Amino acid sequence: MKLRFGKYKGQQFKDTPKSYQNWLLNQDWFKAPKQEKPLHQQLNGWDGYNQRGRAVYDAIFEQEKLEALKQDCMHGICSCCEDSSYYGI
Ligand SMILES: [Zn+2]
Repeated sequence: MKLRFGKYKGQQFKDTPKSYQNWLLNQDWFKAPKQEKPLHQQLNGWDGYNQRGRAVYDAIFEQEKLEALKQDCMHGICSCCEDSSYYGI
């Protein structure tokens, strides 16, 4: 996803700093583009080869990674926050 606003305008969301991604995901005004169906429903019937199914699967994986990152930040075990145990590692 290419950002169309803000200080990282024109860059891919995934290439921005983790701290910025976490901040953005916590903003009420920031909403991912609407899917017709929940992601897990879009995966129904995926044979493992279809391009669209693959893209959906990747999207779920990315969401899970971001969710895990946020959890790490909340528990102070990430490497991106200065007050974390693993900062800078
Ligand atoms: Zn962090």
